[in-house]
Amino acid sequence: MRQDMFSRFQARAAQVPHAPFLILPDGKVITYGAAYARSGQIAGLFRAKGVTPGDRIAVQVEKSATALLTYLATMRIGAVYLPLNTGYTAGELRFFLGDAEPALFIHRPEDEAAMSALCAELGVPARLTLDSQGGGELAMLADGQGENTPVHDVQSEDLAAILYTSGTTGRSKGAMLSQGNLASNAATLRDYWRYTEQDRLLHALPIFHTHGLFVATNITLAAGAAIILLPKFDVKELVRLMPQASVLMGVPTFYSRLLAEPGFTRELASHMRLFVSGSAPLSAEVHKEFSARSGHAILERYGMTETNMNTSNPYDGDRVPGSVGFPLPGVELRITNPETGEELPQGEVGGIEVRGPNVFKGYWRLPEKTAEELRPDGFFITGDMGVVDARGYVSIVGRAKDLIICGGFNVYPAEVEALIDAIPGVAESAVIGVPHPDMGEGVVAVVQARSPDLDEAAVIAALSGELARFKQPRRVVFVPELPRNTMGKIQKKQLRETYGDLFVAASA
Ligand code: AMP
Repeated sequence: MRQDMFSRFQARAAQVPHAPFLILPDGKVITYGAAYARSGQIAGLFRAKGVTPGDRIAVQVEKSATALLTYLATMRIGAVYLPLNTGYTAGELRFFLGDAEPALFIHRPEDEAAMSALCAELGVPARLTLDSQGGGELAMLADGQGENTPVHDVQSEDLAAILYTSGTTGRSKGAMLSQGNLASNAATLRDYWRYTEQDRLLHALPIFHTHGLFVATNITLAAGAAIILLPKFDVKELVRLMPQASVLMGVPTFYSRLLAEPGFTRELASHMRLFVSGSAPLSAEVHKEFSARSGHAILERYGMTETNMNTSNPYDGDRVPGSVGFPLPGVELRITNPETGEELPQGEVGGIEVRGPNVFKGYWRLPEKTAEELRPDGFFITGDMGVVDARGYVSIVGRAKDLIICGGFNVYPAEVEALIDAIPGVAESAVIGVPHPDMGEGVVAVVQARSPDLDEAAVIAALSGELARFKQPRRVVFVPELPRNTMGKIQKKQLRETYGDLFVAASA
């Protein structure tokens, strides 16, 4: 039997064509049968534009039902899907399009002038526009195509997608994901999270990232379930549509925003089956507050562009605040000494490495980078630091690049952040290391406060009996809002730049 996402979709469309696939905010329903037929028309257009199997189709458009169908149509013809963050500028696109050499680029109509010039310069052979309502050249020209575009026969090893890493710590790299990577992870998550065709997923994530595109969409396809497709995150819309849903997948900010929304009540959430969080650390405080408010323990999972999902808290059993749970079935996880690569005993903090059918095929046209991060035995060096407890629960203590070395001692930001987040009056914190004349790096806590009364002395005092001296922040600075990317990840690199001379300037 074929093991790829498109054949799951095709089978469902054949068995139950009238089953809902996409439900739009206005209540309009696109059935599996209708979506399958439309994927045939869009795929026909792609072929007419000269796309052949293995070619890349780059896409930078707003989220819409048609945008999601471009993903399915790409898979239908065995091409490689390359979604791009809608926030990327023309300068950034020059790099992505030059690097990936797509056969076709789909972009927003308002970018027409800039993109036609860029594509001419780079030799991208074909372009199509798609607007936020699903209109534009793509939709118009697809109308003229037949619905029966043949489905390309793909193999598990064939490339399905290239997703550029967010590049928060360096240049973006194109992670090559195979058909087998996507299909195996979707089937594992479906079973682990007890997903069925009855499920209705409230989908408010972007579809250019692994979370919204693969976890959310592929699990739906794997289960034959339906998506309630929101164009973007809007807390009022989540509350309005929650009665129709059974599952929400979000980044941690979805949950803190829901907690700040009076309309989000225990009653509203009472029929929900599952709340999933990932892509950034969910603070233990938000986890606990959410349980108290809604009666639901958020299920936190951990993954990344290169690997899909690696670990998850259990469906049954303790969903431990501050932990990302167990390695998923079929995924091996080990903690190693980052310098030597040797495996460390249980309970020690080290680099997280993973191996399994979920792990990508390497970085696009970067064999040396691939070799640096994929070990010869197949383990991928995630770049995250973590620890496994006696019960097997994994906790992430931060990115290796965010580790602070203060006076020769390691400070793991997550440990300090968890204590700061528990101080009354703190909304959230980010702990960073910046150059310090005596200590090498000095610990700085950047705090988003909930209460105007909170000050630096109060935070330092609250930590003094809780943490060894070397881990305690030397400075606490307050910000109205922590800087985040579109996936809700706090931008620590930016914070390090902003506060880089805090100690140097103080000592000068
Ligand atoms: P991305 O490739 O953009 O999905 O980012 C992946 C990175 O996000 C991981 O390597 C982690 O550093 C972080 N991440 C994802 N999920 C979690 C989580 N549940 N807790 C903490 N960090 C996470």
